Parts: sequence; structure tokens; C-alpha cells
Amino acid sequence: MNAFVSVRGLTRIFDVSRPWLNRVLEGRKKAYLTAVSDVDFEIEEKTTYALVGESGSGKSTIGKMLVGLLSSTEGNVEVEGVNLMTEKQADKVSAVRSRIQMIFQDPYASLNPRWRVRDIITEPVAAQGGDTKGLAERLLEQVGLHASDAGKFPHEFSGGQRQRICIARALASEPRLIVCDEPTSALDVSVQAQVLNLMSDLKDEFGLTYLLITHDLTVVQHMADKIGVLYLGRLVEEADPKTLFSTPKHPYTQMLLDAAPRMDGFGREVPPPQGEIPDPIDPPSGCAFHPRCPIATDICRQERPPMRQLSLGRVACHLAED
Ligand code: SF4
Repeated sequence: MNAFVSVRGLTRIFDVSRPWLNRVLEGRKKAYLTAVSDVDFEIEEKTTYALVGESGSGKSTIGKMLVGLLSSTEGNVEVEGVNLMTEKQADKVSAVRSRIQMIFQDPYASLNPRWRVRDIITEPVAAQGGDTKGLAERLLEQVGLHASDAGKFPHEFSGGQRQRICIARALASEPRLIVCDEPTSALDVSVQAQVLNLMSDLKDEFGLTYLLITHDLTVVQHMADKIGVLYLGRLVEEADPKTLFSTPKHPYTQMLLDAAPRMDGFGREVPPPQGEIPDPIDPPSGCAFHPRCPIATDICRQERPPMRQLSLGRVACHLAED
């Protein structure tokens, strides 16, 4: 059986060259930034796949390519059996795209401040000529707000409530897949758990499939069915949460886990992963993680490790073993 979402060889390269005249005067060549490189993963229907990585790892770029906000340079994205990159029948592609929604990080920026909540929520349905009678009120109650909130403006709500409005808007067009890009990172810690719980409940209630994008491994531990770890645009490890948290195979995953806040660490400053992400315009040779890797050897500096299937997951590291 085909996966609900299938991503194959997905690559996105940005031209970040200086303007032509500057290049001529300064004797520079064109410059390219590979934000995403040859990424493969699958998402089963009604499950949550989490993409985790530091800022600059390419996770948001993948999310944007999935929802059609960015085109790919190479590779394919197949959703519900339709290849969104190569399908010639535009109506097939737009039918699938209409069932994909995105929730963004910043609930302040993603709501039009001049619109009432009712109009914000129903806008995607109204744009398609659908029936919006009572829709906003119904959805507001489903996301834990009041039907009477439909007449208010976004500034009358807290951050957590605004993210609930964003979720209600995403649900309005009856999506099957929701791409959630750091949905809780702009919220207070106390509100994050509430929003994540709500997302979990709605997933079961509406039969949703999630692609959850985050830099925070602790967010996905209890919510994801599978986790993919990204480093400098490449998938370096993939496993279910139990395996990934108990026996991480890739040194980068181990580093992320070491930096994750622990339950007994209240008030303690959390050390970030050591070292800097390298310049993606001029990435290191071989394994891109080798300048930060505590166990790197000569082969790591020379050859890029291919993704390998292990008994309980996949890993791209020369030295990782089952
Ligand atoms: Fe470290 Fe080498 Fe594995 Fe890369 S391939 S993560 S440098 S051990």
C-alpha cells in the first residue's frame, strides 16, 4: 500500500548570488545555497511525522514545498497518490492541495488584525463558494474557545488562543494533512502543552495526518509516530520516538538529546548543541556533521555517508551500528 505522503529525493537550491554588476566588479562567482538535499521520507495516514533540526536545517523549506508555497529544484512529493510536482492535470493537484493546510509558528502574524475571527476562520471555505453558516462558531467550540468569540478581533486574544484560532481556520476546509511549522514555539511553556494536547485530540477526531516541524525534540516525544532528524538539509536519522530517545544512532541526534531540557532541570540554563551549523553555501566535505562530531574519522571527512536501513530505523553515519 502506498504511503499517504511520499517524499522522494526532495532538493531545493536557492540562488544567493550577488547582483551581476557586483560579481563582475568583485570577481565573484555565482553562489548557491542547498537548503534541502535528497530528502526521502513517508508519512502513513492518520499518523504524525516530526521533522526535527536546528534553525537552518531545511525543515521549514520542506514544509513549504509540501504545501506548495515553494517549488522543488529536484525530487517528488506524492500525497494521496498524486505527484504534486509532475501531475499534469491541474484539477487533481488543486483538489489534493485543498486538503493540505499549514499552521505557522507565529499566531500574531498569521491572523489579519482587521478581520473578525468569524471571517478569518471561514475565509478558505468562502473563497471556494462553500457554506459557512455557523462554521466558525462550531469550530471555535471544537478548539476550546466560545462560539461568541467569532465576533471578536485577534487582538482580544492571548497567544495560545490565537493559535487555537489558527487551528480552527486550518480545520475549516476539512483538511486531511496539516503541516505544523513550530506551532508552539512562540507560546508560553504553560500553554504549549495545551495546544499540543488539542492537536492530538483533533487528529483522532478528524482523522488528520500531521507533518510537525520543530527544533525541540521534547515537543515531539509524545506526539510523533516517527521522527526524522535533519542536519544541513539532509535527513540523518529516522526512527520511532521510543527508539530515537532510548538508542539514538547518529551523533547529531545524541547531541540534540543531550541539549534537550530535562524534567529535573527547572530554571536551569539549557546548553545549546555544541558548535555552529556550517555555512550551507560552502558545506564541509564528506559528512557535513564532521566538524562538530566527537567521533569523526578520516572517512567522515572524505565520503558522504549514505542513508542505511537498520533494524529499527534509518541512519546516515559511517560508524552507526545496530
Ligand atoms: Fe560523525 Fe562520521 Fe557519523 Fe558523520 S559519518 S556523524 S562525522 S561518525
